[in-house]
Amino acid sequence: MPTYTQPLKPLGGHLKIVEIFETVQGEGKYAGVPSMFLRTGACNLECAGCDTKWDRWSEMPYAEAAAIVLDHKSSHLVLTGGEPTLWQPQLGEFLEVLDTASESQPANFHTVTVESNGAVPIRAGAFLNRVDLWSFSPKVGTLGREEYFHWEVVLENLRLTEGQNQLKYVLDPNVPEDVDRVFKFHEQAQIFVPDEFVYFQPYDTETLVNILHAPGLDDITSYLRRLTALTKLVAERSEQRFRVLPQLHKLLSYR
Ligand code: SF4
Repeated sequence: MPTYTQPLKPLGGHLKIVEIFETVQGEGKYAGVPSMFLRTGACNLECAGCDTKWDRWSEMPYAEAAAIVLDHKSSHLVLTGGEPTLWQPQLGEFLEVLDTASESQPANFHTVTVESNGAVPIRAGAFLNRVDLWSFSPKVGTLGREEYFHWEVVLENLRLTEGQNQLKYVLDPNVPEDVDRVFKFHEQAQIFVPDEFVYFQPYDTETLVNILHAPGLDDITSYLRRLTALTKLVAERSEQRFRVLPQLHKLLSYR
């Protein structure tokens, strides 16, 4: 699979889209909020626990994608991937098309979240200005591909989006070296993200419940054990500073 590290070339009024669908946001500040998810193609990483088919995209005109979004009631739009920040100019243009199409119905104006692994540089410009929430989830150690991660890029992205960002750390509590890496990184990241917007989420490397869309009871039990262990660990390591939450969409078999 190709590895991308920088924003990609314009596509002439099209987005590379894997899927657009309505569901409930399962993570972070907007957990539980009905949301439209627009998943773009391509990613700069190849994580071990990846649960998305980001290499199966089709090209769709901005107006067609906007029409699908507007055809649903949810007013929270999540741009996810793959890695959506590979498509910053295109997504900026798409959001202009969406906002213009929404003008006749102000109730349709969307709050926009971008979900990113944080390892692609974010550029100043219309896209940066239009996004309401930047949700970064750096992929650490056994979960991610650290050889592609430049932590100074993640820090610069956090600095650029200060006041409009959140951090999600997905961790297996049974992998102490990953826990150490995250806490070491957070010593630098903490100045850009208030504690209330830092979330820890369990990852279960043994049963791989995270890649199942319809986990069985055994998987869920195992996941909840990891949640309990991670909650204790984070409380001890951080002196009760951070929240530890499950990924709701995984537990509830939401898409
Ligand atoms: S960054 Fe996300 S989409 Fe990309 S490979 Fe990793 S888990 Fe999958």
